[in-house]
Amino acid sequence: MSEADCLFCRIVAKEIPAEIVYETDRALAFRDVNPQAPTHVLVIPKDHYRDAAALAAADHGLADEVIKAAHAVAQQEGVAETGYRLVFNTGPAAGQTVFHVHGHVVGGRDLRWPPG
Ligand code: 5GP
Ligand code: ZN
Repeated sequence: MSEADCLFCRIVAKEIPAEIVYETDRALAFRDVNPQAPTHVLVIPKDHYRDAAALAAADHGLADEVIKAAHAVAQQEGVAETGYRLVFNTGPAAGQTVFHVHGHVVGGRDLRWPPG
């Protein structure tokens, strides 16, 4: 289940290189090309869903697996104890630019709230 013109489907297919840091049968994590913090990793389901709402509606445990993968990445990056942010920008007004659902795992510095 992929879309030929989707950037992240092409990363899953290894057609576009990425620095992969974690992988399961159904999830993939790779470093953001434009990191906003010392740790900035994107966690995605390998199957294509346009956003977090579509992923949650899929109802087969995949959202659960993506969130668990995000926490595994945080542990691997050494930010799980100090704290990290897991962000799913959902829709254009939230700043979503790639419409293959992805969680941003951001950490390694103090993060402010509210976000911009
Ligand atoms: P969004 O704005 O949709 O929440 O996040 C998209 C993220 O994907 C951005 O943080 C952007 O830097 C990242 N990104 C865009 N193109 C690429 C790419 O080709 N490779 C990687 N690793 N990250 C990308
Ligand atoms: Zn896709």
